[in-house]
Amino acid sequence: MLRLLLADFTALFFPQACLACAEPLVPGEQHLCTTCRAELPYTDYHLLPAAQNPLSRRFWGKLPVEYTLSYLRFLRHGRVQQLLHQLKYQGQQQVGRALGHLYGAELLAAGLGPAFDLIVPVPLHQRKLARRGYNQADAFAEGLALALACPRAATALRRTEHTASQTNKSRAERWQNVSTVFEVAQPSSIAGRHILLVDDVLTTGATLEACGAALLAAGARAVSIATIACAE
Ligand SMILES: [Zn+2]
Repeated sequence: MLRLLLADFTALFFPQACLACAEPLVPGEQHLCTTCRAELPYTDYHLLPAAQNPLSRRFWGKLPVEYTLSYLRFLRHGRVQQLLHQLKYQGQQQVGRALGHLYGAELLAAGLGPAFDLIVPVPLHQRKLARRGYNQADAFAEGLALALACPRAATALRRTEHTASQTNKSRAERWQNVSTVFEVAQPSSIAGRHILLVDDVLTTGATLEACGAALLAAGARAVSIATIACAE
């Protein structure tokens, strides 16, 4: 009781703000206000057959993907951009966890829970990881793993930088090369499993495609993709 009173007292002077719209949260609300929860632009693609899912097309002919899932539509200057900004640039790691937990509950309700054997986030560049202190994709993975009761392997994938082979490449080519080279740290942890590959935003899908290819090459049985948001 005393602790509850203290929490209310603290909230009175330091009210938590909704991470999407910055309005103060009322008791009972966590991370997101009730209005934002109701009005966020959910894709609901997990409710569609794969053939009707517009995200699946982004990987056709490039990577065999079982389920291509994204929680929200990315709209500039809207709540989703604000959420991603908090997650990536304001140190608000809990945004990723909260959204992962909410989305995981929806996937579970849609019967997708047992589909996945292991959740793997797209890795960050080491330099970015050192600067930010956490991998935003892994924060989302953490929330998903909790809700789906599915194991997650935060460091199953890693980026490799083949600097020696890049000396003759242009700056742009070098960047592209570095950004799309991934390897599986422990192929035995991947082999025979259906991997849910997770990232913050799906745009062209090039990074996810490269990661998915590395997972399949390491013996994954299948790859599915889930992101917080997708750009149209
Ligand atoms: Zn809000």
